[in-house]
Amino acid sequence: MPVAPAADPTPDLSTSGSPASRRRHAPERTLVGIVGGGPAGLLLSHLLHRSGVDHVVLEARSREEIEHTHRAGILEAGAVQVLVDAGLDRVLRDGSRHDGIVLRFDGADHRIDLTGLTGRSVWLYPQTDVFIDLANQRAADGAYSSGGADGADGSGGVGGVGDVGDQVRWGATVTHVLDGGNVDGGSGGAVGSDSGGDRPGVLWTDRQGDTHELRCDVLVGADGSHSTLRHTLPESQRRTFVHEYPYAWFGVIVETPRSAPELVYTASEHGFALISQRTETHQRLYFQCDPDEDPARWTDDQIWAELQRRVAGPDGFRLVEGAVEERSVLRFRSSVVEPVRHGRMLLAGDAAHTVPPTGAKGLNLALADVVVLHDVLQTWLASGRRTGRRDDTVLDEYGRRVAERVWRAQHFSAWMSGMLHSHPGETDFAARRRLAELRMLVASESGRRFLAEGYTGWGPVLGEGAS
Ligand SMILES: Cc1cc2nc3c(=O)[nH]c(=O)nc-3n(C[C@H](O)[C@H](O)[C@H](O)COP(=O)(O)OP(=O)(O)OC[C@H]3O[C@@H](n4cnc5c(N)ncnc54)[C@H](O)[C@@H]3O)c2cc1C
Repeated sequence: MPVAPAADPTPDLSTSGSPASRRRHAPERTLVGIVGGGPAGLLLSHLLHRSGVDHVVLEARSREEIEHTHRAGILEAGAVQVLVDAGLDRVLRDGSRHDGIVLRFDGADHRIDLTGLTGRSVWLYPQTDVFIDLANQRAADGAYSSGGADGADGSGGVGGVGDVGDQVRWGATVTHVLDGGNVDGGSGGAVGSDSGGDRPGVLWTDRQGDTHELRCDVLVGADGSHSTLRHTLPESQRRTFVHEYPYAWFGVIVETPRSAPELVYTASEHGFALISQRTETHQRLYFQCDPDEDPARWTDDQIWAELQRRVAGPDGFRLVEGAVEERSVLRFRSSVVEPVRHGRMLLAGDAAHTVPPTGAKGLNLALADVVVLHDVLQTWLASGRRTGRRDDTVLDEYGRRVAERVWRAQHFSAWMSGMLHSHPGETDFAARRRLAELRMLVASESGRRFLAEGYTGWGPVLGEGAS
């Protein structure tokens, strides 16, 4: 059988699992195969389930592991609407609406009144909660009942396709992407290319090292920034636009009450810092650092001293200090892969694009992608019902409809990053110019509105008739 090996360092089939435990299960089929059960993959699963579309999600990690991985915290109003429309309205009760953000420079606060300028707000609602809501809903719908709470227990492959109880499989690592040949090992052809692939598929391993094969009519790569699926696409068929940044964020979760009611984006002569909130007792703080910084070499006292130095000013503002519970360095990268469709394989969320976290766009983009993708898949399936043969050109609509939002978010995230961070080796001229930009921005209603429109996300999901 022709296979395209994944470029990621995922375990090779020839070496995974003990020899005794390694088995190859009979191939399964489904309509939509989804690799990755993060916010993008699980939202797509939820929407497809509501539409009655047969699908399977393969997620390498356990549900518990994802629930405890701290990432994004800010949802645009449009993303909140997406969740509420999908029947997930806990965000309205447990989330916290923010009507403004603060730009802090020259040692003073300059509030951007998001709601006054745009009529829209953002919501502080951690990505972990978005994931928990989706995972709980999928569990309530019985999507992973047969594999136990934690999924691919070696019984993966049990149940037939169309069995809701097997829709989401945790601990299921995709190792190879299969081309469009048929299940019996037919023709070759490039991965997901127009030339062959109307039966894309994957090989995946469960926790016991057993191998499984899943064939589908369409394969969605929602497998994050290190996407296995993206790496299997031939270089000649994809273009990747990349921008690397010479700085990163040192992020900490601290046990303290809030130091400020709204997010504070601080530009200082010592570098950037972001004061954000999580709960009454825990906060999320970041400060700009070198991408190769080792977080383990910092003591708690050093972390607090650095944060206090960045936010200090004549107004005497100080952060409330407490225990540092988690620390990590988050590297910055802007990237866009085009096209997002290759034959019957489509990329969504971080698999298709990444942004630096400054503009709080990554999670929002992932959710917006999925809304459009679900809509396009519906049209594609309907085309088959009407004519007896699905019109694959319909799938191109997905890339066309998400591109505008993706590139707006790329610009916005890069612009905010450049304006707020000190650049290593920056000249005095460049530092003063950045300061002048910040002063002009807050002094101008047009400037503040431009920032507010970008931060709150340009209204409903672009591509859905909004502008
Ligand atoms: C520290 C941090 C802070 C961030 N802050 C923000 C923020 O403030 N605002 C914002 O909007 N965004 C932020 N982001 C970005 C945001 O977290 C991502 O954009 C979001 O997670 C994208 O969702 P996704 O589902 O596309 O990808 P992911 O959440 O990465 O999910 C992909 C899933 O695919 C699985 N997977 C990968 N490979 C395989 C495989 N071979 N087989 C099976 N499964 C596989 C992974 O285990 C993972 O669970 C932040 C990111 C980080 C890391």
